Formats: sequence, C-alpha cells, structure tokens
Amino acid sequence: MSEANYLWNPPPVHSLPVRGSTARYPINRIFCVGRNYQAHAVEMGNPIDKASMKPFYFTKSPSTIVESGATVPYPAGTANYHYEMELVVAIGAAGFRVGEADARRLIYGYAAGLDMTRRDLQLVAREQGRPWDLGKDFEKSAVCSEIVPIGNLGVLSAGAINLQVNGETKQSADIGQLIWNIPELLADLSKFYHLEPGDLIYTGTPEGVGPVKPGDRITGHVDGVGDIALTIGQPE
Ligand code: MN
Repeated sequence: MSEANYLWNPPPVHSLPVRGSTARYPINRIFCVGRNYQAHAVEMGNPIDKASMKPFYFTKSPSTIVESGATVPYPAGTANYHYEMELVVAIGAAGFRVGEADARRLIYGYAAGLDMTRRDLQLVAREQGRPWDLGKDFEKSAVCSEIVPIGNLGVLSAGAINLQVNGETKQSADIGQLIWNIPELLADLSKFYHLEPGDLIYTGTPEGVGPVKPGDRITGHVDGVGDIALTIGQPE
C-alpha cells in the first residue's frame, strides 16, 4: 500500500502542553459530565438524587479545544455565553468496564478547564428534548490548561475550585462536592465507551455559572492542578 493520498490536508492532531515535558498530550475525545455538583444542578432547575439517578454525558469535538491564555471571539448565534469552571481528568491508559479501584491506572493527569456554553441554545434544546450540540459543541468551546501529570496527586477527592470574571469571584466550591467522584465516573463512563489514552473528561461545574461579554477576562484555579485564563473578544 502506498501512502494515502487526500484531497486536502487532513485535520491536525489537537493536543495540549504537558507540565514538565516537551511532549504534548494528543486529544482523542472530550467527554463532559452534566450536573455533577448539587448546587449547580439546583440552579439549573434539576436537583440530583444520586440513589435513583445516573450521571449523564455530552461530548465536544477535539477541534473545539483552546489553550488557556487565549482570546476567543464572542461566539455566533448566542446572546447568553456562559463560563463553567471544571476539573478535567486526562486519561492515559485504556479501560473498558473498569472498577472504581482501577481509576488510578487510567489517569494520566489533570487540568483546569472551561466548558464554555451557549446557554440560550442549550436551554432551548433541553426544553424541546433535542441534542445539546449547538449549546455545547461549538468552535473554541473547550478551554483547557496544560495537563499536569498525576505524580503524587493521586486520585483527587478534594481541593478548591474557583473562577473569577474580571477579578470578581463567581464560582467557589470544592472537588469533594462532586456528586459522582472520579472513580465512580470512570467506572460508569467505561460501561459505555472503551476509554483510551487522550480522552479528556470535564467533570462538571459548581454553582455560580453566568454570562460573559466581549472584553471580559476569566480566570480560574483548581488546587493542586493549576490555573486557567480566557479573554472574550469581539463577536465575529
Ligand atoms: Mn459543564
């Protein structure tokens, strides 16, 4: 077989920098967990009863990734563009139908992430029982810091997570408040997907989500993991 011959250049491999390494983390898929902090579920009008409910997921395309520090244009088609500060788990080993005790083996590292959302479009879709793609899976909507190798961090179960807009705190919570913690998420998600190296999991946002406008600067932090920043530019 000769080398494949394409009509145009194939899309690039999307990747993120890795702290302490010159090698980059190539992204396979981006999974996002919905409603994984009770106070956020309540503010969105859907409180969670863990005993009777399961986590749910949506995805973003790898091409939506944006590195921390970027300026992104205020996106098309929305008048209610929201931030969601999240802990991101970066998978580094394959796993299917894993147990909670396998979490450590699957995790390459962590990152601080922003699940940017066209809230007006998401809510219309939600009310009409339609997919969330227009609200969630749009260009430059998955903002991510460098990947921090797990090292001595272990399987994170606590640590402050917060976000500021123009220096004013809007979200402030703790990873310990996750409704489904990291081992539970990996065990559940791997019932449905063969997790692979390069899969990112945005673990959900705490309460306090809200809108941003052109010129705003978002900053965020996850204890033990790091910081993230994003500037909102003019609409295209
Ligand atoms: Mn989210």
